[in-house]
Amino acid sequence: MAISDEIANNVRTLKADRDRYLGFAFATADILLEVDQVGTITFADGALRGLLALKGEYLIGKPFVSLIEEKDRPRAENLIKGLSNKAQRIENVELQLTAKGMPMVFSASAFSLNTLEKSIYISLSLKEKDNVAGQLDRRDMVTGLFNKNGFIDEANEKLQNTKNDVEMTMIDFPTLKHMLDNMTPEQATKMMADISAYMKSKSLGGDTAGMIKDGTFSMVHEAALTKEQITSDLMQITKNIVPSEEVQMRIASVAAKPGSKLTKQDSARAILYTLNHFAQSKGEGFSIHSLTEGYQDMLSKTVEQIDDFKKTVTDEKFDIAFQPIVDIQNGIIHHYECLVRLKEGAGFQNPFQFITFGEETGYISEFDLLMTKRTLDLLLEAKLKDNNPVVSINISGKSLSSSLFMDAFREVLNRHNKVKKQLILEITESSKIQDMKVANDFIQEMRRDGNLCCLDDFGVAESSFDYLRSLQVDFVKIDGSYVRESMKTDQGRKMLKAMGTLLSSLRIVGIGEMVETEEEAKFLFECGVRFGQGYLFGKPSLDQEELKNCGRASPYQLNVIRARNFRPKN
Ligand code: C2E
Ligand code: CA
Ligand code: CA
Repeated sequence: MAISDEIANNVRTLKADRDRYLGFAFATADILLEVDQVGTITFADGALRGLLALKGEYLIGKPFVSLIEEKDRPRAENLIKGLSNKAQRIENVELQLTAKGMPMVFSASAFSLNTLEKSIYISLSLKEKDNVAGQLDRRDMVTGLFNKNGFIDEANEKLQNTKNDVEMTMIDFPTLKHMLDNMTPEQATKMMADISAYMKSKSLGGDTAGMIKDGTFSMVHEAALTKEQITSDLMQITKNIVPSEEVQMRIASVAAKPGSKLTKQDSARAILYTLNHFAQSKGEGFSIHSLTEGYQDMLSKTVEQIDDFKKTVTDEKFDIAFQPIVDIQNGIIHHYECLVRLKEGAGFQNPFQFITFGEETGYISEFDLLMTKRTLDLLLEAKLKDNNPVVSINISGKSLSSSLFMDAFREVLNRHNKVKKQLILEITESSKIQDMKVANDFIQEMRRDGNLCCLDDFGVAESSFDYLRSLQVDFVKIDGSYVRESMKTDQGRKMLKAMGTLLSSLRIVGIGEMVETEEEAKFLFECGVRFGQGYLFGKPSLDQEELKNCGRASPYQLNVIRARNFRPKN
């Protein structure tokens, strides 16, 4: 429950005439406390559960200072002492609390009414709300352990940064809910707190434990800690709280890191990829069964695929196919897009799978660079035959986030001075760009040096317009599926038209993708999209000789164009 919802809920249950005052109070506070003159809490309300994982009634009778971190206790005491006997207010005292394993800084204000009870009213409002809220999103509300997504992030980071042998263990208490329901509230709280504290203390770095779902816990720990030991420790913990009950528990452990043959970087990339895919996999997802059956399988498969990917690159087990990008009005081929085609035995089903794997594991930049080099070599070769085609290559947004890549890219271009300007850079997977400014600076540098630049896949990503604003380019490729879907409805056609107008007004040339029919070509043209790419104009071809047609219209295309007789509107 969001903190504000919790406050609203609690407030709703109170009497009407108190509402107004509480409303005023919560206008600035997240937590309200009433304490007596010696500082014992007599009333508590607000986002206690959300922020502190506590119910209000547990606080009653406890000393206020016991909530506060040791170092801030003198200040907390002064807050109360300073007020006794007077009607006055003390404002904005910074106090740190630790709850859910996370330090939280509150700004505290206190006020005393000069009445018989001599109560002191304390309001606590959380500082750096956004930061704390981000952390809370990753944690379980009650135990303070990580939730599933938080655990994956944390486990990933810790696994990448440890040299030791570590295991991932999952523990399932199938009857936990039933047990908690049959305990007193104090026992239930203690049970959860003790289990969480144990898991945390035994986990890597003291905070790599998560509650994956109700009753299922997960932790990453040194391999020296056996699952037998964990079982017996947890049994003891539960026995201490409910001696009569036999607690049911299932446990599984796996080696969390791939074998020692891998380099640190390969190992880190394999872990990240596997954890993400493991957690997202359908069916059981994260469970005891899938952990033992699936995780190591997936990890070793990932390791194999990394090997395949790297071999494909180092042994250059790929070819380049060329697909024409055509001026829709006159059929003249403006340039060709270079697309990877894998050779037999490359270990991937298709280019798309290969590229996606590279992007998700971080190896794509090595490939992008090699593709650039191969393409430039090919242009040098063509030049000897008096053939100077213009070609585009795909560069992943991920590569534009790596200064290592950008430096190497510049160097490759400079080694091919004679042909480098024939290269158009097509930026794909813009969502992987980490810093738009860095990427755009690089793009502008390339454009100044004479390379045209193109933003790929426009229309599919949620933030297409943001990319268009942040990256100044010469071409925008409107994604094929977007063109196809838009054509189907009146509204879609209007949007495509508006997109064409927008591009024209930005002086960006539009390229419509996956054009398969005359109707699509005609409509794109009417929208002001000048270029088209797709099976209507030509499929990707492995024949380098094709490149000679750059700047010309093929006979087939000429016929089509004549029949079509397009005329630009005004
Ligand atoms: P993309 O850049 O959007 O490339 C266009 C894809 O659409 C190509 O698929 C092409 O074969 C296909 N296509 C072209 N015309 C038509 C058509 O009329 N109808 C249909 N149904 N499909 C058409 P491909 O070659 O499988 O490439 C898939 C994606 O992989 C590319 O999408 C691109 O993002 C990426 N990719 C390909 N080669 C490279 C590369 O060398 N480097 C990088 N970073 N990415 C690449
Ligand atoms: Ca492309
Ligand atoms: Ca595309």
